[in-house]
Amino acid sequence: MNQKNKVRNVLVSGGTHGNEYTGAFLARHWLKDPSDIQRPSFNTHTLFANPDAFAVCRRYVDRDLNRSFNPSGPLGDGQALELKRAREIEKELRVKCHGELPDVIFDLHTTTAQMGLSLVLTNREPFNILLYAYLRTLFPDVRAYLWEEPSLRPGFLNSLSAQGFAIEVGPVANGVLHAGQVFKTSALVGGCLDFIEKLNSEEEIAVDETVPLFCFKGHADYPRDADGLPAAMIHPSFQGSDFRLLQRGDPVFIDFSGKEILWTEEPAWPVFINEAAYYEKGIAFTLTDCIEVPCCGLRERL
Ligand SMILES: [Zn+2]
Repeated sequence: MNQKNKVRNVLVSGGTHGNEYTGAFLARHWLKDPSDIQRPSFNTHTLFANPDAFAVCRRYVDRDLNRSFNPSGPLGDGQALELKRAREIEKELRVKCHGELPDVIFDLHTTTAQMGLSLVLTNREPFNILLYAYLRTLFPDVRAYLWEEPSLRPGFLNSLSAQGFAIEVGPVANGVLHAGQVFKTSALVGGCLDFIEKLNSEEEIAVDETVPLFCFKGHADYPRDADGLPAAMIHPSFQGSDFRLLQRGDPVFIDFSGKEILWTEEPAWPVFINEAAYYEKGIAFTLTDCIEVPCCGLRERL
């Protein structure tokens, strides 16, 4: 890594969704006492992203803040609180980083699905894959889901930088602090920051030859009634089966009279099964393909 590519500014944000307490409270904590997230070779900035939504313990006030960013131009000039907040955040970040956007962004989220310690990547940048591989040496159960929807510009906060990702830890209910999950999340952030410190200091980083990457394939919605509400629920035996292979004939839904609905399509690895926030987005779970991604030569490409 040459001098020019060294990481100078890192953003850790939380409370992007106001009812996801892990990130919101960690951001509040680090704003008061940043000692745990400081490293010698770069600046770590903390952002408490959506205090208005946090104040009313809701995901958002007018629209999803984490679908309101677009580094190549505004997503419409609407007056929605979150669109204004997204523009304000971008401006604030440019002030903090001397006209630039942060080199790396980690955005902290929780999920009601049994995702464990997971990363949500939006690209295959060598930096992100190598960091994921490094994290697996510290926390072997970390998994990464690659959310590449080519037709869509999702407008995630972390899409302001190609390096970094969302960290999703669950299951945890919205509006709840679960100390175990909070400390796992802060330990994962610590691992990310240590990785950057090692890169900047040109220290050796040993990783496995490949890492499993769960790549977006499509979404599955609930069967819906004429009024648009779910006509069935996630099947109890499917609940919590995130990152486990779903085969033809496995039960996925069960209706209110107890009738099972079985999976009839191609096998896939589901993620975000029964995520509370996705009922309104028409997603009961997301389907992925699991591929092994080689890690050799990634460092040279940074
Ligand atoms: Zn979230």
